[in-house]
Amino acid sequence: MSAPAPRISFVSLGCPKALVDSERIITRLRAEGYELSRGHNGADIAIVNTCGFLESAQEESLAAIGEALNVNGKVIVTGCMGAEPEKITDRYPNVLAVTGPQQYESVLDAVHRALPPQHDPFLDLVPPQGIKLTPRHYAYLKISEGCNNRCSFCIIPKLRGDLVSRPISEVMREAENLAAAGVKELLVISQDTSAYGVDVKYAPHDWKGTQLRTKFIDLARALGELGVWVRLHYVYPYPHVDEVIPLMADGKVLPYLDIPFQHGHPDVLRRMKRPAAQEKTLERIKSWRDICPDLTLRSTFIVGFPGETDAEFDFLLDWLDEAALDRVGCFKYEPVKGAPANDIAAPVAPEVMEDRWHRFMKRQQAISEKRLKRKVSTRQQVLIDEVTATGGKGRSKGDAPEIDGAVHVASRRPLRTGEIVSVKIDRADAYDLHGTASGF
Ligand code: SF4
Repeated sequence: MSAPAPRISFVSLGCPKALVDSERIITRLRAEGYELSRGHNGADIAIVNTCGFLESAQEESLAAIGEALNVNGKVIVTGCMGAEPEKITDRYPNVLAVTGPQQYESVLDAVHRALPPQHDPFLDLVPPQGIKLTPRHYAYLKISEGCNNRCSFCIIPKLRGDLVSRPISEVMREAENLAAAGVKELLVISQDTSAYGVDVKYAPHDWKGTQLRTKFIDLARALGELGVWVRLHYVYPYPHVDEVIPLMADGKVLPYLDIPFQHGHPDVLRRMKRPAAQEKTLERIKSWRDICPDLTLRSTFIVGFPGETDAEFDFLLDWLDEAALDRVGCFKYEPVKGAPANDIAAPVAPEVMEDRWHRFMKRQQAISEKRLKRKVSTRQQVLIDEVTATGGKGRSKGDAPEIDGAVHVASRRPLRTGEIVSVKIDRADAYDLHGTASGF
């Protein structure tokens, strides 16, 4: 009788990019015969993939490491916080190893040292699409690592290095495998999706007999041929982004753009050193909507950036009215240690920041509600994420998982997770739509 397979518990914290790193590590571990354990107590060792973006995220990561040490005792730490290992080892000197972001080999080496793999002739039973932590019907597709921008509030380039784009043929192979495995929606992610390929000078690669450039628009076109939903995240409004809008109007790529604007005032954007800050964004949004009226725009903003004046903040509120974005998240500025923005100007007082955050949210909520109401009485394609007693809960083409709203679907016939149904929208509330399945 063979010995039971070595078991590993895994905690994945942070953004979708970190989730993709976790998926890659887990895929490799499963391929080597390790089993995953649901909890730390049933595992031989624990791995914690940390997030180091904000102080609060670092604290959450440290707490997760502490819990894994308490319950299991043998812990390997990886991810963004691994770029500054002393932050971890100062508090927890007894962790087995600390490795940095994207250091897959180092994580595996640390696992091999602590818990050697077992030989098993059936090991290559891992599916070709790898192991996904997302539900079966959607998957994140990470097209590059790192970032060439130097936004003054961000330390990600310090943690993850400069942009490194994956060859387009490799990305397409992964996308095709995922689609063949039943994935219905691909979510394209990176730190700066529109900069894809800049580092390799848009190097061409052969894909099924045609040459594709390692470039945003070529990738969008090729993904658009796979017959699955393709959603673009973390896109900056560089001029060449205009080229993707006709693909959205033609139904090749979802009419959805996630653009983290962070502010509307040009001076604040300059102090933030944001990419594509000087582009005439409001005019561009208008022309995009002329070409593709169904376009959903999602964004995030920071209020209380150092030196933000009342006038700059008021400008931002007016900018929001003009932009009429569909989905918006807003954060109060947090001084990440090591970020140049902390020394740019005097910090905004916490009570002022709080007040601005509430005013921002109130203003945007009214805009978002109005945008959502436009969908009442329309018919929307909805991808079912969850089956309920009366039908299901899913997302329209305008809703990304985790961050946007949902569509609550009433249905006479039982729905299946992962199916796309046609839904007549009956009403909208602040964030969600409610409707009735009317076609399968
Ligand atoms: S684009 Fe800016 S905020 Fe985003 S990862 Fe790069 S430097 Fe950070």
